[in-house]
Amino acid sequence: MAATQTEGGAAGRAASLFEASRPLSPSIHLVAAGTSRLVLVPNGSQVFEVDEDTFGQLDSARLTHDGRAIELFLQNLGVDEPQLVDDSAPLDPPLRALSLAVAQRCNLGCTYCYAQQGSFGDVPKSMPLATALKAVDLLFAETNPGERVNLAFLGGEPLINRGVIRAATEHSQRRADESRTTVTFSITTNGTLVKEEDSDFFEQHGFAVTISLDGGQAEHDKLRPFAGGRGSYQHILGRIAPLLARQHRMQVSARVTVTPVNLDLAGTLDEFIKLGFHSVGFSPMLSSPTGKGELDHRHLALMLDQMVSCGEKFIDKFIAGERYPFTNMVNAMREIHRGTHRPYPCGAGAGYMGVSATGDLSACHRFVGDDSGEMGNIEEGIDRDRQRSWLTDRHVHRQEPCRSCWARYLCGGGCHHEVINRGRPACDYIRGWLHFCLGAYARLSAERPDYFGSTSTTPQTFVP
Ligand code: SF4
Ligand code: SF4
Repeated sequence: MAATQTEGGAAGRAASLFEASRPLSPSIHLVAAGTSRLVLVPNGSQVFEVDEDTFGQLDSARLTHDGRAIELFLQNLGVDEPQLVDDSAPLDPPLRALSLAVAQRCNLGCTYCYAQQGSFGDVPKSMPLATALKAVDLLFAETNPGERVNLAFLGGEPLINRGVIRAATEHSQRRADESRTTVTFSITTNGTLVKEEDSDFFEQHGFAVTISLDGGQAEHDKLRPFAGGRGSYQHILGRIAPLLARQHRMQVSARVTVTPVNLDLAGTLDEFIKLGFHSVGFSPMLSSPTGKGELDHRHLALMLDQMVSCGEKFIDKFIAGERYPFTNMVNAMREIHRGTHRPYPCGAGAGYMGVSATGDLSACHRFVGDDSGEMGNIEEGIDRDRQRSWLTDRHVHRQEPCRSCWARYLCGGGCHHEVINRGRPACDYIRGWLHFCLGAYARLSAERPDYFGSTSTTPQTFVP
C-alpha cells in the first residue's frame, strides 16, 4: 500500500490522535480511553485513573493554562516533588554495549540507506580482527562480576566479514567467562549472505538476529534491491529459512523501515509473523542522506493509523490469550508499566557506542564517520570531555520544544541522529502513538493484569 492509496478514514483517525495528544501542559497529559479517565504525570511517568469530574477540571485547567490548579492536583497526589529527572548529564557512564561496524560495505543498494551502502560516505572497508578484539577488550575493561554487556555487529552488511564476527564473539565469551560477567550478542543483517552454518553459530551463542525486511516482495524489492537492481526478497527468505526454523537460544526478528512506499504495516506484520519471526518492529524513515524515502507529516499520519490497527489487533489477541509479537507495542507496554522516565531517547554516547572499521568510537552505529558524534577511539579510549559535553547538550531539558512536552520522559527527545540531521518532524506521530499506548495499557491492565505480573502499580486510582 503506497501513501496515495489511502487517505480519508486513516488520516481522520490519526488527526483525532494528533488532536488528543497535543502538548497542552508539561505537567500532565489526559487520556480518555473507553470508560477510563487517565492522567499521565511525566514526573516519574506515573499513570493515575481519575473520576470524570476531576478529569474535566484538569482538562479545563490545561486549556486555560491554569498552572496553579494543576500544581495543586499534583501536590494532592504527592508527585509534585522531587523532580525525578534533574538537569545533570551522567558522569563518565560505564560502557555496557558496543556495536562494531565490521563491514563498512554492502551488497544491497537500498534507496534510503543512512550508511550510504555501508561505506558511510567513505571508501568501503572491513574491520581488521585486531581492531575488533581491541574493541571487545574496551567493552570488558570496566565490567564487574555479575554485570551484563552486549556486543552488536552491524554494517554495511556485517556478514561480509563473517570471520571477524566469529572471532570477536568467541573472544567476548572468553572474556565474559573469565570476568564472571554475562555477554549477549546481536546482529543486524540484510539476510542475503546468511549460510546454513550461521544458524549453528548464532544458536550456540544465543544471538538476537535482526533481519532488515521492508514489507512484502513488491515493496521490499523496490526499497532493498541488490546493488545491480535485482530484487532481494525471495533470495533472503531462502537464506534465512534455517534461522527461522532453529530459534531456541537465538531469536530472529524482522525490522521494517517505513517509507512512503511500504505503509501497509498491518499486512506486513501478519505476513512476517506467519513466516515465523520471533517479533516484528517498525521504524519510520525520518532522515536519509539524500532525503529519499523520508516520511512527511501526511505519511506519518498514515503510519500512525496503521500502527494503531496493529496495536488494536495486539490487544484483541492478547486478551484472547494469543501471542502477537508486535515489537513496538510490547516495548511501549513495558516502558509505560515500568514508569520509564529518562532524559535521553537511548543509551547512545553514554553506555552504548559504535566502533568504525578503523577503530573510531562514535555515539552509536548511525554516527560512524560523522564528526558530530565522535567519542574517541579504541586505542586511547572514550574521550570523556567530548562525551560530557555531548550528553549535556543532548539532555532532553536542553531540547526545544521537548522541555514543555508531556511525552519528554517516555520519548527522550527523539533519535539524536535524526534530530541533528532533520529536526523533529515526527512529534505529532510520537505523541499520538504514546497516547494510544497509554489507553491500551489501561485496557490491558484491567483485562489481563497477569500480563504485567504482580508488581503492577499503575494505573493507580486517584480519589480526590
Ligand atoms: S521529540 Fe519527543 S519529547 Fe521532544 S517534543 Fe517531540 S515528542 Fe516531545
Ligand atoms: S541515536 Fe538514534 S540510531 Fe543511535 S542508538 Fe539512539 S535512537 Fe538509535
